[in-house]
Amino acid sequence: MSSDSATTPPVLIIRTTQALRDLAACGTVSSSSDEACNCRLARYKGWDSITEMLWPAAQMRQVADLREPGVDEPTFEEFHPARTRYESPDAPIALAYFPVNRATVWRCRRCGLQVMRYTEFGGYYVDHRVRVLDVALVMDAPSPSPSSS
Ligand SMILES: [Zn+2]
Repeated sequence: MSSDSATTPPVLIIRTTQALRDLAACGTVSSSSDEACNCRLARYKGWDSITEMLWPAAQMRQVADLREPGVDEPTFEEFHPARTRYESPDAPIALAYFPVNRATVWRCRRCGLQVMRYTEFGGYYVDHRVRVLDVALVMDAPSPSPSSS
């Protein structure tokens, strides 16, 4: 393994659950105390909103892209077989489903925490959402039903 201080490794394109799981296994999940790292991202477990002010851009590096190349409008269908909800900390992380299918993965240089991030565009606002990429929650899922579009 080489140091990542000098060279910037390419951003991984993640297309399979196994690849996502492998990636997730590379990161730390919880420094349960926020004091552990000044990125303070460990608390973002349920697609929480984060402002540009709070996003520790200087120490975050994009490591992967979970979006399917060439797909402009991925499905909004969510995957909740155990009756979790969008914001549930224990909701499964399924690659083909919203909002994972719109996310990129970022890693904190200091503590190794990996988070998924995507941006919601409303009429007059943008809303950045972040969720810790927890390997224990990465799940194989059937393909979403074809959209009606
Ligand atoms: Zn950190």
